[in-house]
Amino acid sequence: MTLRSALEGNHVSFPKVLENKTGGTIVTRFSKQQIITLYQITMEDVIILGTGCAGLTAAIYTGRAQLNPLVLEGTQPGGQLTTTSEVENFPGFPEGIDGYTMMDNLRKQAAKFGARYEHAKVDKIEVDGAVKKLYAGEKVYEAKTVIVATGARPRLTGVPGEQEMFGGKGVTTCATCDGAFYRDMEVVVVGGGDSAAEEALFLTRFASKVTLIHRRDSLRASQIMADRATSHPKIEMAWNSLPQEILADEKGFTRGIRVKDANTGEEREIACKGAFIAIGHIPNTDFVEGVLERDGDGYIVPSAGSQVKTKYEGFFAAGDCVDHVYRQAITAAGMGCQAAIEAERYLAEL
Ligand code: NAP
Repeated sequence: MTLRSALEGNHVSFPKVLENKTGGTIVTRFSKQQIITLYQITMEDVIILGTGCAGLTAAIYTGRAQLNPLVLEGTQPGGQLTTTSEVENFPGFPEGIDGYTMMDNLRKQAAKFGARYEHAKVDKIEVDGAVKKLYAGEKVYEAKTVIVATGARPRLTGVPGEQEMFGGKGVTTCATCDGAFYRDMEVVVVGGGDSAAEEALFLTRFASKVTLIHRRDSLRASQIMADRATSHPKIEMAWNSLPQEILADEKGFTRGIRVKDANTGEEREIACKGAFIAIGHIPNTDFVEGVLERDGDGYIVPSAGSQVKTKYEGFFAAGDCVDHVYRQAITAAGMGCQAAIEAERYLAEL
């Protein structure tokens, strides 16, 4: 029996030993009031979901405010930046910094101020009362304030062959992770934004040729990245090209991609051993379904004229799970900071 179920069930005699929320045990000689007090002590002031730029910045700020934040990290500790090669535009790093090192630094910085980390994938939330409940499988977390900073995951095209060859057979969404496997081979990158340009440029370090496949006739990427990509001698542009199918060789590995010309409808095959998909992201917000307002693409819609408040007091959201406009490391960090300050203010008024 858990401590909570004992209290909620209004048991007159407590079982001999009760589990407490930190994994320890409590012996029965405490009175119910004492148990309630102990229970309140174990409730968190702040729980932060996510360890990307937004989550870890919120952890640094709430940690430094002595709120002892508990940070729950999911399947991709450190978030998307851990799969980025070089971060050139985060202020304060004139020589740039690699994404993994940057996130590791943020993590250590938050830990220095008392942030605690736990692995947990929250799948359900109840947030309309003073106590916010987060359900992760069998485990229930409770907190006075919560900051959701669960980020976003890469989007796939959905064309035939993509799923079958994803992760090990030539289709991937991460050049930093997988680029080195394609030394002296031909690869393609699908997409026209900054991510696609960055992936293509990174892949020129290894691949013999990189074809950048974009569905329109100009890149969406920032001018500097677009210029670098389109002028690189190893990068060939496939404009107005709509992916139709990833093609497999006799062993089931990628051998090419079939694309259709958006203007003429003509189809052709581009040979490649690796297909890097970089067509944007899907926010990780499924677990707030039915509780928080989301837009048509799944981004959490903030409330009350704020970037980080939701319609529930004490419940905040920050970073790429909210922001579909800027989506930068620095803007995510800024939102994490805002959410942390809002959480501090909310707690101060309780
Ligand atoms: P994005 O800007 O949304 O670009 C996605 C690209 O994929 C677009 O060119 C889009 O085409 C194309 N696309 C979408 N769905 C497609 C489909 N089904 N088939 C084929 N193509 C498809 O995404 P992103 O490049 O991941 O960038 C996201 C944000 O992160 C941006 O704000 C970007 O500036 C930022 N970012 C910055 C850096 C940096 O500064 N170093 C690096 C990476 C990302 P259309 O153009 O036709 O819509």
